[in-house]
Parts: sequence; C-alpha cells; structure tokens
Amino acid sequence: MREKADSDLVRRQNRLLLMEALRQHGAMARVEMGRHTGLSPASITSISSQLIADGILEEDTAPHVPSEGSHRRGRPTTQIDFNPKNANVVAVKVSIDGLELALADGRGAILARRTSRTATYDADPTAFGKLVADEITALLAKARVPARRVARVGIAVQGVADSQAGTVVWSPAFRTRNIAVSSVVEERLGIPCRVANDANMIAEGLIGSDRAGYGGTAAVVFMGYGVGMGLIINGQVYHGPTGAAAEFGHMNHLPDGPLCRCGRRGCVEAYVADYSLLRWASGNAATQPPSFNAIPEAHMLALEAAAHRGEAAAVSAYAKAGEALGFGLARIIAILTPSRIVLAGPGTRAMALIAPHLNRALEAGVVDELRRNVAIEVVPIDTDMIIKGTIDRALRHVDREIFAHGPPLKRGRELENIA
Ligand SMILES: [Zn+2]
Repeated sequence: MREKADSDLVRRQNRLLLMEALRQHGAMARVEMGRHTGLSPASITSISSQLIADGILEEDTAPHVPSEGSHRRGRPTTQIDFNPKNANVVAVKVSIDGLELALADGRGAILARRTSRTATYDADPTAFGKLVADEITALLAKARVPARRVARVGIAVQGVADSQAGTVVWSPAFRTRNIAVSSVVEERLGIPCRVANDANMIAEGLIGSDRAGYGGTAAVVFMGYGVGMGLIINGQVYHGPTGAAAEFGHMNHLPDGPLCRCGRRGCVEAYVADYSLLRWASGNAATQPPSFNAIPEAHMLALEAAAHRGEAAAVSAYAKAGEALGFGLARIIAILTPSRIVLAGPGTRAMALIAPHLNRALEAGVVDELRRNVAIEVVPIDTDMIIKGTIDRALRHVDREIFAHGPPLKRGRELENIA
C-alpha cells in the first residue's frame, strides 16, 4: 500500500516536472524534455505517452528547420506541446474603472475577451461576486464554451487580496473591506476560483515570458493608478501565506504624510501613484483626500508636459515621487539584495523626471556595497501583463491540481454528476 502511494507520488511529480518544462520553454522534442527535466529517455517516453493519451499534451510533427551549424538537416522532429483543447481558464482583472475578462485555451492563447465598465467602487459590494460570475457567463456565451470546460478562474485585483479566504481584503476599487469573491463564483459557476494581487500577476507574466531573466531574486514595481510590487524569490513569485505579500505601495514612507487610498498616511503610493502626483502638483497634498476615480491618461500627460516645461509645482510632484520611491527601494535592497528591480506601468513614462530624485534617495538610503549589485531597469509592459500573468498562474494550478493526477475531463464529469 505504502509502495503504491510512493509510486503514485513519483508519477505525479514527474508529470508535473514535464508540464512545468513545457510551460517554461514552450513546445519541444522529447530529447529536450530530458535536458530540461533531468528524467531518463525511458521515463520521458512513458510519461509523455501517458499525458498524450490523457489528452493533456499532443504531438506535432513539424519539419525541422536546421539552425546554423546543425547536423540535423531538414529531418522532421516530433514536437510535444499542450493540447490547447485540454482545458480553458478565465482571467479577470478588477480595477477601479471596471472589469476586463479573457478566456484562454490550454496553451494560454486568448480566445475571447470582454470588458465591462461597471465602476466597481460604486457597485454593491455584496453583489460583486455575482457580477463577476455574470460577466464570466457572458464571456463564455460569446465564445460558445460551456462552463464545465473551464478548469480555473483567476481574479487579479488592485489592493490586498487574500487567496486563502478568497476575499478582497482591501482595494481602492471598493468602499468596504473583506469582499467575498471566490466562494460566490465557485457556487454560481462550479469553477474553482482564486483571487490575487495584480502586481503579483505582472510578476507572474514577466516570469512566464522570460524565465531566464527572472530566475533569481527580483522586485517588480508597478507604477500607475496605484503602486504595487511583485516579489520574485529564486524564480518564484512570493505570495506569502495569504497572497498579500510585498505591499510595497502601502509601506510607510513618511509618518503623517498625505492620505493614501488605503486610509493610512504617508504610504509610498501617496507620493507615486497618478492621483498622488496630481494632488502634489495642486499644492493640496496635506489636506486633500485621495481621489477614488480613475485618472484619465490625458491628465497625466498634461502634468508630465508641465514638468518638462519646468513648472515648479509639477516638477516638485515628480521630485517627491522619486524620493519616496528611492527610499522605499533602498529598504527593499537592504532586506533582499535583489539582482534586478524592474519598474513597470504607465507611471514610468515620467522616468526622466523621477530618476534624478530616485537615484539621490537610493544613494542616501543604502550603502554602496549593497546597491551596486542591483540593476534598476524600466521594462515597458502594458497592463495586459496582468491578464497574461493571471492566465499563466491559473494554468499552473490546473497542471498541479488536475493534470498531475489524471485526464482533464474527470472534473467535468464530476461537475455534471453534481449538476
Ligand atoms: Zn496606503
């Protein structure tokens, strides 16, 4: 009995290892699978055959295009990849001005999208889970995909998400706290659902698109409608026990500073986010509560232009932002010594205005010996990286929780039995 349990565990681990290699590197031949996983050719043959028989992977015999100096001229190579029809996942991005949804196939390709401009902040919070479920239903109807074909729903929110409890603990998109989401979606659609922080999902998306570049320890900072951080430790996004780790935006910069959307004073976000920059430039940072509306891009472009023209109020807003960001990052460097700090999001458009102040604060905030090994870079990403990261993470959950155990349709049958 014990031996059976052990061999089942090894089988699951090896299936997962092989799927993980495919998620990281894309379609590959069996020989490459051996290289990436360290498994023997016999194991690769047996595991891949089983995964193909289960409908999770598929073979694709494409003519081999020889690379320069390759000895295998034009010989066809059997590539193995995920069967895109093995399962679907849905990603939902919740932001202050509405919902964005995407349906993806088993390879992560987006099949359909839907946008809803419901301002979540004014929506009835008790109805929010139902709203998400209804939007997913509409997306699936448009794509003609039945709910039972969807293996996971991933929801990314601004603010603090508790993935264990399935709640939005706090978000600028809502007036109240601890809003149940996962349980409502699961009850209404019968699909397992997880909530996560949107900056963590950007980090997931970046890892998915450049495994080698994010193999070590890195901090990804999102600057824009809010300030978020995704912390990558040893190539994995660190979510913490509840999923709320690395709330850099709500780390205190200065006690008794300007009010933040989270309700506290002096957070990094209260200096760096778009609403904070506008408030600094207006001269009312000390007294004015934070705006809870989405800031139009045109307002930020106008502020940037004013700062580039040398208008003092605008210049000082970016100086404050650079300083808050620099001292905050100095603390991150002192604690974690990441090899990379990646700045991303629409806020980085103003990097030329922010950088001198950021650098001065970094120099003042952390000793040279710790600072000099950190590369600080601006990576141009669009906010679609949140959707991409949410899809990647949902697919990895499917690999671990369903495909490692057996064929994909099992859950579908179970659900049909329930229904
Ligand atoms: Zn805050």
